[in-house]
Amino acid sequence: MSKNIVVAIDGYSSCGKSTLAKALAKKLHFIYVDSGAMYRAVTLYFLRNNVDQSDISQVAEALKNIHLNFHSRDYETHITLNDEEVSEEIRQMPVSDNVSAVSAIHDVRVEMVKQQQRMGKSKNIVMDGRDIGTAVFPHADVKIFMTADPKVRAERRYKEMIGKNPDITLEEVFKNIANRDYQDTTRKESPLVRADDAIILDNTDLTPQQQLDFALDRIHPLITNI
Ligand code: C5P
Repeated sequence: MSKNIVVAIDGYSSCGKSTLAKALAKKLHFIYVDSGAMYRAVTLYFLRNNVDQSDISQVAEALKNIHLNFHSRDYETHITLNDEEVSEEIRQMPVSDNVSAVSAIHDVRVEMVKQQQRMGKSKNIVMDGRDIGTAVFPHADVKIFMTADPKVRAERRYKEMIGKNPDITLEEVFKNIANRDYQDTTRKESPLVRADDAIILDNTDLTPQQQLDFALDRIHPLITNI
């Protein structure tokens, strides 16, 4: 049997990683894994159960009680936390405001990375996140590092959120993105950084179709050589 293919997509918050990852997975018939959803679901559990993030025994105990599962329908992210569908709730502000702190915890990363590596062991996958091309799959077949102007990113995310969250402000969204970028790039444990062999994709002025074409143009020669 031929080796399975892993496409790793990393980048800053709200720069369209999941839009690209889903489109690629659909086009290539790969499985899409949203690693951020896993950190978000862990954060939701911590918030609901008042887990003290500075207490390693509480963190370890919580991790033992967290069971995450993806149910891929139509390439959208459907994640369950202990059998409860939490895909909507993990996108809300309380989780967004706390997820970067939770994902900086060593034991949380060790557990999530272990689960992510298992998912990429035998199947063709596209996974997006912050450390996929550096820590989770340092030998990924294709690595893309995404970036975009922070103002453009905040406007896109704000438009996505305003329908379901009429009280949200553009400023709040901008601040959340800036804070997460800061925490994600400066943390000790696998910070967000471009892998040396990652293709840079700045989508500030690109449509979703243009960014998909950009990625496919670069992926096709790589995957036909495997
Ligand atoms: O991708 P998304 O923005 O939903 O990720 C939420 C947060 O989860 C990020 O801001 C980051 O703190 C964390 N994360 C991470 N490593 C990943 C994916 C996400 O630390 N591979």
